[in-house]
Amino acid sequence: MKRIMHTESVDKVGEEVLIQGWVHRRRNMGKIAFLDMRDRTGLVQVVLVPSELSPRAQNIFDAIRPEWCLSITGIVQKRGEKQVNSEMRTGTIEILAKDIEVLNASKTVPFELDDTSGISEEIRMQYRYLDLRSPRMQKNIRLRDDVVTFMRDFLHKEHFVEIETPFLVKGTPEGAREYIVPSRLQPGEFYVLPQSPQQFKQLLMVAGFERYFQIARCFRDEDARGDRQPEFTQLDLEMSFVTQEDVLNINERLMIEMVHAVVPEKRISSIPFPRVTYAEAMAKYGTDKPDLRENPDDPNELAFVWVVDFPLFEDDGNGGLAPAHHPFCMPHPDDISLLDSDPKKVRGQTYDLVLNGYELSSGSIRIHKRDLQNKIFTLLGLDAEHIQKKFGHLLRAFEFGAPPHGGMAPGIDRLVMILADEPTIREVIAFPKTGDARDLMMGAPSPLDPQRLDDVHIQIKKPLGKSEGR
Ligand code: ASP
Repeated sequence: MKRIMHTESVDKVGEEVLIQGWVHRRRNMGKIAFLDMRDRTGLVQVVLVPSELSPRAQNIFDAIRPEWCLSITGIVQKRGEKQVNSEMRTGTIEILAKDIEVLNASKTVPFELDDTSGISEEIRMQYRYLDLRSPRMQKNIRLRDDVVTFMRDFLHKEHFVEIETPFLVKGTPEGAREYIVPSRLQPGEFYVLPQSPQQFKQLLMVAGFERYFQIARCFRDEDARGDRQPEFTQLDLEMSFVTQEDVLNINERLMIEMVHAVVPEKRISSIPFPRVTYAEAMAKYGTDKPDLRENPDDPNELAFVWVVDFPLFEDDGNGGLAPAHHPFCMPHPDDISLLDSDPKKVRGQTYDLVLNGYELSSGSIRIHKRDLQNKIFTLLGLDAEHIQKKFGHLLRAFEFGAPPHGGMAPGIDRLVMILADEPTIREVIAFPKTGDARDLMMGAPSPLDPQRLDDVHIQIKKPLGKSEGR
């Protein structure tokens, strides 16, 4: 017999069906037992009446416990008026079991899956595959899939091309420490993991794709917080022959249509999204991430706001300049003349999209001319040799008819976190890391065998004792 999904059983009254899934709950009522069975579509009630069961099913009747994985054949029956459960999609029927095959038994699970809100995160992360069975995580991860699917469809309709870029790269400074990867074939040399695909997406504009996007994994070796993880995901996008206005418009449309399609119960406070300059935001709200919700307690309110005209540079703490966003941002056309006289006053063609007080996304119009890019590097304190070593490839690319371009990169984890009304991005990432960047389920990071270190020409400076190593 072919398996049917639980929700399909409502249309099969009187028929014999085969279902497969997990025991969500078991209730005993005298000699009879009720199982709420769970599959990806939801719950269905199964009745176990010993006299109706096959001999093998009778044998395991007493043993069956929550989270056992079962294959059950039985007859779909209409429930009596009083037994109808309107909270359940399959609440008008139940399945009278005839035969049960145990696909796999389960140990007692370490925590209740129905409501994980009071369970320590450490246990949930250690048994993440069980935590992911919970209705909360099923909902969050499926919402994430809806959001990403919407983005892909929307952008393809707008003629964007999805292109993968490498993970083993030479670094781009984006304000965080990079993860480093030793090279086996080139002793003493290293790759880094990308903080974002920034340089590659710009090079794809030089390459003539005009509209690029990627659901891109980014890696930043910094201390984790509620809305940060060592690895996280951005909708990375870039466009050629555009102005700042074009980039803002398409992203605004994407967000509005996504909210309408994926989370129709949410209300966007203000369309078009309000815009403030960085200077106005600081003066008026004292932050560049203002929370413009009318009622911050309303989980269905989404207050998007654009913050534009960020300064191009900030203090590097040693009397020099550091990029406020990254070094590839185009200065504001009105401020070019200030680059030499008063660089700290120069605004960039840079913008952030803020949602409910979270920085959702940053972006900019980029520099596409070699000389200007070179000048910015120099202002940032890099000498000619350094520039050549770190960014020679980009400057060279700009010599071959690089088009004007710009883009941005909305953070998918943060976006889904807000849409799911969750307190941290860990709740919307299938396999997240802890605050100290550990994977508790797999036990990563972990020491390597000396031979493996040898292969990549690495010598540990001072052998660390187990406790010291942590
Ligand atoms: N690469 C930038 C970031 O990760 C986003 C952008 O400028 O498009 O913040």
